[in-house]
Amino acid sequence: MANLEAKHPGENEYLQAVREVLETIETEYNKHPEFEAAKIVERIVEPDRIFKFRVVWVDDKGKTQVNLGYRVQYNAALGAYKGGLRFHPKVNESMLKFLGFEQIFKNSLTMLPLGGGKGGADFDPVGKSDAEIMRFCQAFVYELWRNIGPDQDSPAGDVGVGGREIGYMYGMYKKLAREHSTGALTGKSYGWGGSLIRPEATGFGAIYYVERMVKEKKDTMKGKRIALSGFGNVAWGAAIKATELGAKVVAISGPDGVCEIEKGITKDMIDYMLEMRASNRNKVEDMATKFPKLAKFTAGKKAWSVKCDIAMPCAFQNELDEKDAKELLKNGVKYVAEVSNMGCQPGAIAAIQKAKVPFGPGKAVNAGGVATSGLEICQNAEHRNWTAEEVDKNLHTIMNNIYDMCVEHGKEKDGSINYVKGANIAGFMRVAKAMVAQGII
Ligand code: GLU
Repeated sequence: MANLEAKHPGENEYLQAVREVLETIETEYNKHPEFEAAKIVERIVEPDRIFKFRVVWVDDKGKTQVNLGYRVQYNAALGAYKGGLRFHPKVNESMLKFLGFEQIFKNSLTMLPLGGGKGGADFDPVGKSDAEIMRFCQAFVYELWRNIGPDQDSPAGDVGVGGREIGYMYGMYKKLAREHSTGALTGKSYGWGGSLIRPEATGFGAIYYVERMVKEKKDTMKGKRIALSGFGNVAWGAAIKATELGAKVVAISGPDGVCEIEKGITKDMIDYMLEMRASNRNKVEDMATKFPKLAKFTAGKKAWSVKCDIAMPCAFQNELDEKDAKELLKNGVKYVAEVSNMGCQPGAIAAIQKAKVPFGPGKAVNAGGVATSGLEICQNAEHRNWTAEEVDKNLHTIMNNIYDMCVEHGKEKDGSINYVKGANIAGFMRVAKAMVAQGII
């Protein structure tokens, strides 16, 4: 860690992600002299390569705009690079390196042949017109297309990139590469290469994982109060599945504040989340304006201020801090499952674990998204569409398998389960063994 800090000063998110993994795998790692001999840790913490490029486009007023685009190809020991694209004004190399690093282990946990990668741009979709989004996506792919492909690197969505953006990028990719029906990008819409259940997959997968955490305690999802942060694709999928299992989503949030939904979110409200995201306004208050009798908006508050049994951060890294964790614990939270990548700060995780409240880490809980991207690539390669039931069944099996691996590697002497340790060890071992077997490259 000292070497890395000296080499990459100020890359805080990246260093945070690496530290968490190294701390939890240390004991296990030291049992394997072959890892040390092949310098697996020193190799795994550095990306294979990073592409950084200028993205130039013209806005609706005819003005030239310049952004920075990136693709971090992190580790290909298990397969072609795979991971999302994030469009957000705060995107920088450190953020994408942390996300790419996490992606290696997450993808490994799915047991599919997926390497780790991530990318994005410091482009802010908020307030942009549809035509502006299209022009930006086209300009982005114009730079990147030679370095992606189903057997090379397959991007998907992430914060700020959903079905619409993937559509525009895929259209441009096909035009340039003259390839069709490929898994060069995933998260495509159904009908032209996309998989059923991919939009729901991250949220569904997260709830499948949480359901296992709840069952582990001989408890039930029925009637549980769930607080979700965000109102994007991930929170949407989680809200559908949680409601289906009889739980009550009592809070969603946005950068402007929180909407408290005392009676639990309804189907109409879940559907409206899609419109809120498509509007690019990024305001959760819109839910309370549309459903004034069901949702109460409070400006400046987080979802964690609402009393809940299960807290699920679904928005952005480091969104849940130690103070939030203490507030949740004081209000009797029973389970915390990170759905956003590195959604909880280290102090928050420590407080939750100290209180013996089960904590599921993002790289395991949210792996259903990339897993279903893997299933989309399978369908593209077969030139076939699976039914929603087939995809969902595969997703459920993968999530159950991930849960079992986390328990196997995370069981402590006192019988409790350290899901963070379990996920890191299980994810790391598969990659490390593959790297040793494939030689010094
Ligand atoms: N962005 C998602 C993640 O963090 C999905 C990546 C993918 O489907 O490739 O895992």
